[in-house]
Amino acid sequence: MSNNQTAAGNGEPRSVPHFLNGHTEAGSGSRSGDVFNPSYGTVQARVGLAEPALLEQAVAQAKAAPPAWAALNPQRRARVMFRFKELIEAELNSLAELLSSEHGKVVADAKGDIQRGLDVVEFVCGIPHLLKGEHSESVGTDIDVYSLRQPLGVVAGLPPVHLPAMIPLWMLAPAIACGNAFILKPSERTPSVSVRLAELAIEAGLPAGILQVVHGDKVIVDAILDHPDVKAVSFVGSSDIALYVYQRGAGMGKRMQCMGGAKNHGIVMPDADLDQTVADLIGAAYGSAGDRCMALPVVTPVGHETAERLRERLVAAIAKLRVGVSNDPDADYGPVVGAAHKARIEDYIRMGVDEGAELVVDGRGFTMQGHENGFFLGPTLFDHVTPTMRSYQEEIFGPVLQIVRADTLEEAIALPSNHQYGNGAAIFTRNGNVAREFAAQVQAGMVGINVPIPVPVSYHSFGGWKRSAFGDLNQYGTDSIRFFTKTKTVTQRWATHDDVIDQSFVIPTMR
Ligand code: NAD
Repeated sequence: MSNNQTAAGNGEPRSVPHFLNGHTEAGSGSRSGDVFNPSYGTVQARVGLAEPALLEQAVAQAKAAPPAWAALNPQRRARVMFRFKELIEAELNSLAELLSSEHGKVVADAKGDIQRGLDVVEFVCGIPHLLKGEHSESVGTDIDVYSLRQPLGVVAGLPPVHLPAMIPLWMLAPAIACGNAFILKPSERTPSVSVRLAELAIEAGLPAGILQVVHGDKVIVDAILDHPDVKAVSFVGSSDIALYVYQRGAGMGKRMQCMGGAKNHGIVMPDADLDQTVADLIGAAYGSAGDRCMALPVVTPVGHETAERLRERLVAAIAKLRVGVSNDPDADYGPVVGAAHKARIEDYIRMGVDEGAELVVDGRGFTMQGHENGFFLGPTLFDHVTPTMRSYQEEIFGPVLQIVRADTLEEAIALPSNHQYGNGAAIFTRNGNVAREFAAQVQAGMVGINVPIPVPVSYHSFGGWKRSAFGDLNQYGTDSIRFFTKTKTVTQRWATHDDVIDQSFVIPTMR
């Protein structure tokens, strides 16, 4: 693709358009953001950062569209989603290349990113069933009660930088299938995949205006949060911004669902299958350069001997890791997403050293021939990290694995439980009782038992605890259907006799 040229810095950066009312639109704002190719460290595209006037236009168009879409019987909406899924599948390779070129994750991982989003599109193909309400017959004389699930109208999604297909699809698929119109404001650093998804949705039969893509930064986020016609906002990103978005949106009376940062722990028991555990930990800690909210950046071996054996094997496995450009099929992971992000990770490594942790493998200073400006970092491993260290308490979001040793299972469970984040936690053991105890006790929203990245399947739902999520309802699964609909409960009486019921001044009861 011509991107190869621009990626290497030899051509004019392309422009990423907005997508409004069924077609791409350049927008007239004067501000723009750079979209890098992290493997080269060069600007490959520019994205216009919208001003509130463009959001006004997007919301007005979106508001006009859903009555007809919502009135369509749900089976017909499901057919559009089914066709949408097929079109994405047909373009999986080119979408993955585009995604990988903007984020830096390797192409195989980019395909996984799309696939986990597609799973949710597939889930909402069952929307006729998912939207069914409840019915209670004869709750009083001639009286039945039933409930309806009705769309909210215009809703919005604010995804993060590092899952540019999966999280937009997690948000938009249930919202649209429920009969809403959706304003998608992608991360300004990885914006292009969202535009292509919107084009495919139109090709699949989605009416114009139902899926609007507006690019922008804080200006447009605030405009979305303040807009009275946007009824719900789904957000995924870092915790401070998640809390800000949650509070501002909720303050405007919107329904809010805001997922934040993470620091997931993997507990390794003395009886764990160590070969499998090390393979799992390496993939979960360094895959996608650690840029995943369900990565495992902390490992807690229980007992001195387990720690020593684990450390030795981790060092050996790290030595075999291959860092490469994002379209290198042999690379295990690629660059991180940007120069500032790379510098931030390096700062955390420096901090860990200053705090007294033992730097076992140092990933700083990694360069790749021909890609000297790429945002690469080698794998880093720390041992003897302690809970009082700031580098442990905060999210690093890079290819850095920290060993925090524990003497007992109780001590190990307390680590993720007392951490400010509570997205996921995993345990590696052969003992069912220990696994059961861990699952019952640990203070985290998603638990893995011999599973390093326990992102639930699309018909369960995704969400963390503590500062990893603000709001009540999780992403996808039946929670998402509740989030994107409002319940109306109807109490009806169809009298089967002519008796007139006396007027009453007391609250109705069914006694
Ligand atoms: P981010 O918080 O910087 O950005 C997320 C979104 O917020 C983007 O759309 C961005 O444009 C917008 N934004 C940024 N600054 C803003 C501001 N000051 N005011 C209003 N809006 C603003 O996060 P990111 O760097 O894109 O993504 C990485 C983070 O996402 C990590 O912390 C990661 O753990 C988290 N994450 C969490 C989950 C989860 O489900 N818990 C899933 C994926 C990622």
